[in-house]
Amino acid sequence: MSTDSFRALMARKTEAGQAVALETITEADLPAADVTVEVEYSSFNYKDGLALKGLSRILRTFPMVPGIDFAGTVRASDNAAFAPGDKVVLTGWGVGESWSGGFAQRARVKGEWLVKLPEGLTTRQAMAIGTAGLTAMLCVDALERYGITAGGDVLVTGAAGGVGSVAVRLLSRLGYKVSALTGRRSEEDFLKSIGAAEIVDRDTYAAAGRPLAGERWHGAVDTVGGQVLANVLASMAYGGAVAACGLAGATDLPTTVFPFILRNVALLGVDSVNCPTARRTSAWARIATLLDPADIEAVTREVGLDDLPKLADAILAGQVRGRTVVRL
Ligand code: NDP
Repeated sequence: MSTDSFRALMARKTEAGQAVALETITEADLPAADVTVEVEYSSFNYKDGLALKGLSRILRTFPMVPGIDFAGTVRASDNAAFAPGDKVVLTGWGVGESWSGGFAQRARVKGEWLVKLPEGLTTRQAMAIGTAGLTAMLCVDALERYGITAGGDVLVTGAAGGVGSVAVRLLSRLGYKVSALTGRRSEEDFLKSIGAAEIVDRDTYAAAGRPLAGERWHGAVDTVGGQVLANVLASMAYGGAVAACGLAGATDLPTTVFPFILRNVALLGVDSVNCPTARRTSAWARIATLLDPADIEAVTREVGLDDLPKLADAILAGQVRGRTVVRL
């Protein structure tokens, strides 16, 4: 391969919808922008699974390099804030959806989307955290901003997944008593090893329940939505708050107004994609101080570009544990 060409997973439009294949491409195949990055690691997220399978219209234009996040080294820059050699991380902003993303050895993006890696975090660790970890940190930030402090019981749903497992780790590091709701009892040891004090079986929150149940949780991070989120809302203690960021279970929310009007419960929406740069920069800095390399390694496995198509089925089936980094 010449220095001008590099490997990429490419999604192209076909009559049947889309086809995804490994290709050798050049920078001419990337969109025009002010910073070119030598991608060292990307990560594999639920949304990437949807994108590779052509679901939920994640990929908006074709041809497209999927991959909603990446970390690497600046190769060329026309942006005064970045110079060749800078270590950077990118999550969100529609990259890997409507702008070619991280499943390629090179990416060209707007400098304003990039965050310089905090001191002490490698590109591999940044992607072990990735969009999922940043989202988990933003959820914790949202609960704290609302006044939910360490001491009370908190619940994390989808706990063995990417967002959930980092949320469990962050909350336990901050001194919260964390319960982990999971559909996989087989992950109990793993969840306890990352800081869960108690395991809650997903089945106990899966069926339609009463509008209000016993006051159990002061805070919650929800990654699954649907009936589970409705039951979490019904189980919140007076004045509690739920940071909701995901839809791994369902997109609907069959709740009532009672948790809100009788228990003063707050539902805090969390989005990482268009999160303002100042907030994401401080979230990355906080992640770097809260997690140590062993914490990150414990929830991470590494794959190559070739492994991604089959991993898409696994992540959509809820079978992936923790975080998956993609080595470029
Ligand atoms: P993962 O697939 O890694 O984790 C999702 C977890 O949800 C699974 O591991 C499983 O956990 C649980 N789950 C899966 N299917 C169901 C189901 N049918 N009912 C209830 N629980 C289920 O995904 P991520 O952690 O990467 O993402 C989680 C969610 O957050 C996704 O919906 C994603 O789109 C969203 N997200 C949102 C962001 C934002 O900016 N708002 C950013 C990043 C992600 P277990 O086995 O423990 O039950």
